[in-house]
Amino acid sequence: MIVKKTLLKNLHVINPCADPALLENAYVAIAGDTIESVSSSEPSGEFDVVHDLCGKTALPGMINAHHHLYSALAVGMPLPKNNPRNFNEILEQVWWEMDLALDRDSTQACFEAGLVDSLKAGTTTIIDHHCSPSYIEGSLSLLAETSEKLGLNISTAFEISDRNGQEIFEASLQENIAAISKFSATQYVHPMLGLHASFTLSDASLRKIRDAAGKLDSWGIHAHVSEDKADEADALNKGYNSVLERLEEFDLLNENGLIIHGLHIKDSDLELIQKHGSQFVHNPSSNANNRVGMTPNQNLNKLKSGLGTDGMQSNMLREGKEGMLIRSSHLEGGEDSVDYMQLLFKNNAEIASKLFSGSHGSSRKLGYILPKYQADLAIFDYLPRTPISESTIFGNIFFGLSGLPCDVMTRGEFRIRDYQLLDVSEQEIKANAVEQAKKLWSNFN
Ligand SMILES: [Zn+2]
Repeated sequence: MIVKKTLLKNLHVINPCADPALLENAYVAIAGDTIESVSSSEPSGEFDVVHDLCGKTALPGMINAHHHLYSALAVGMPLPKNNPRNFNEILEQVWWEMDLALDRDSTQACFEAGLVDSLKAGTTTIIDHHCSPSYIEGSLSLLAETSEKLGLNISTAFEISDRNGQEIFEASLQENIAAISKFSATQYVHPMLGLHASFTLSDASLRKIRDAAGKLDSWGIHAHVSEDKADEADALNKGYNSVLERLEEFDLLNENGLIIHGLHIKDSDLELIQKHGSQFVHNPSSNANNRVGMTPNQNLNKLKSGLGTDGMQSNMLREGKEGMLIRSSHLEGGEDSVDYMQLLFKNNAEIASKLFSGSHGSSRKLGYILPKYQADLAIFDYLPRTPISESTIFGNIFFGLSGLPCDVMTRGEFRIRDYQLLDVSEQEIKANAVEQAKKLWSNFN
């Protein structure tokens, strides 16, 4: 097989959490979808294509460790008239109404709009948690196909829940199992087992999920855990000390699992996550929006938490900045905060590299502009007001680079150049999204 060799030159490369974090006027040599070298002198050898980036600045393609692409058409959606007062009312009156109204066409419009938004923000890997109970069979394949068309890495999961009855529960479980069987050997897709949350799954349902998982070679759950205190109260009601103890009781925790939110977990729950080596993901803008509280600093540090947006947005630089500001508003001068740069550029890279390496035996490295990593880059046309150095990277990233990248590369191919999508028509996708959003909103209002 002939492997395309690409050279990028005149590029300032920032790996925010590597040492060194900055390489000015760098050359990035790429073979196929993988970075071969990053150097300050021109590498030898023949290249099929050479791109002069004229002094632009590159960050690693970013990773969203928890997203709901199915909410992409909800941006701007009119809210229910009787103003939901708590977490359960938000779910019941907004999200559980909207997801039921999604059909195949509106689901596809969500995927396209959400993926385009992500790519345009330099987010090149998405760990998605999907829900469309009226369109289940084939929905995860549609997501994988749509991501492939745009060149993104996608992790799939369909939300399993009891809330829409037995038939939808079974079909949702089967959709996850089918995707795990179909995509486990596909390098740019990582299929997971999507659980909505402990409080919408009975003991019998958890047992069925575990039995089905037991027939697979490899699996990991992707589940909302302890997002609101109501989830913990439900677990207590069902006779367990905590949500995580309940999941452990049903043998659903392992090193491939993703624990989302975990706002109200106890120290013993934190130890359970560490014991099983599961991944933990924090979603600050969503938590603030839902008024469910704030994950303690020490839990985020101890669990090497990743960063997700929970469907709130597709821009990870904005999520990191908002996370920092939300937390700062609760701190007094001099108190330690959380290093959101580390969550986004170190912990997310570790989580995605581990998951996407997965069961097919090949190692896949994501989240750095370094040799052997997948060539996913977000390139900004950025003139810093202060020189970029180790000590100014944080400020330059979260306060300077918060606009959109001008060029985005995934797997060694440009998907966006000069702010324009190359492989698909953004205008068509947007026009279709507007049409589908109107239909969707009228269906559920
Ligand atoms: Zn979520």
